[in-house]
Amino acid sequence: MSTTKFSISIEKVAQSRLQDIDFSQLSFGQVFSDHMFICDYKDGKWQDPRIVPYGPFSVEPSLSVFHYGQAVFEGMKAYKDDRGEVFLFRPTENYARINKSCKRMAMPEFPEDLFDEALKTLVDLDRLWVQPGFGNALYLRPFMIATSPGVQANPSSQYRFMIITSPVQSYYKGQEVKVKIADHYSRAANGGVGFAKAAGNYAGQFYPTALAKEEGYQQVIWTDDATHQKLEECGTMNIVVRIGDTLISPPPTERILDGVTRRSVMAVAEKLGIAFESRPITVSELLEASEKGTLKEIFGCGTAAVVSPVAAFSYEGKEYRLPELKDSFAARIKEYLLNIQYNRAEDPFGWRVRV
Ligand SMILES: *Cc1c(COP(=O)(O)O)cnc(C)c1O
Repeated sequence: MSTTKFSISIEKVAQSRLQDIDFSQLSFGQVFSDHMFICDYKDGKWQDPRIVPYGPFSVEPSLSVFHYGQAVFEGMKAYKDDRGEVFLFRPTENYARINKSCKRMAMPEFPEDLFDEALKTLVDLDRLWVQPGFGNALYLRPFMIATSPGVQANPSSQYRFMIITSPVQSYYKGQEVKVKIADHYSRAANGGVGFAKAAGNYAGQFYPTALAKEEGYQQVIWTDDATHQKLEECGTMNIVVRIGDTLISPPPTERILDGVTRRSVMAVAEKLGIAFESRPITVSELLEASEKGTLKEIFGCGTAAVVSPVAAFSYEGKEYRLPELKDSFAARIKEYLLNIQYNRAEDPFGWRVRV
């Protein structure tokens, strides 16, 4: 047992599982590293921050999170450079966002200094789980759940904040992504929780996404709930469209999650001299551009895949294909971002944080 500056107690595994893992055969988020962070909220304060071996814990079946879904999460990554140094990417953005999500879900904020210390201590302890090489990373999943026992429909008085970490390779590798534009289902509504990284937002997407899959489309492009005309998000990623030589992406609203990757893509585009318009874009504008041949690219952006190009989309039963480009904006921006994340280039924005 040892402790850190913020009195995080550390119980190390007796034996690491590292040598049992085949890092060339990882499917996303299936394998977890040796340790996890836990901190409990009781009697109005966060207490007993600790790092312990990754594993199950037992709780009562009446736990609030099981019944009312009071839960939020974050997704971020740790990257290793060629010399073995480990970096986080814009971690304070994730910290700010989890507290924004907490507020909307009537959950207590988590202290920033403890978030920072927990993240760095955990990643440092499991740094051998961060594999070197482009596309390899340690996916970090901070999350918070309501842990009061009892099925009263009230905000919980107890919470558990945890961080678990999972080694990953690049997401959606190689496979062509086709998407369906939503004309009935929605992921969010005005006044709702779409801007928060609330667990239930994902559960609500599973069924419509499964229906799209039956038609041969892996993801849904979500549209606004009122008119289904405004493009909102691409699956669990923000959406960017290229018409002519301009990138267009709907700005965050109450219904659209404010992605760190989207904001990073916007900044990189500006750096590369690519026009980027943060404004609403409609299905009609998309179809019109497709017919005129000015629709060049659609891509999703998010931490897991960074930038994920769309090969085709369907709308009202008709399929529209995107052209295959040699030097796409998506590829150029992705490379620029990866070079920053893996410390292979200057970081003019100051986004990298060494662990
Ligand atoms: C997490 C998430 C994103 C992407 O956010 P990043 O910060 O870029 O990872 C986009 N949309 C939704 C709905 C999300 O949950």
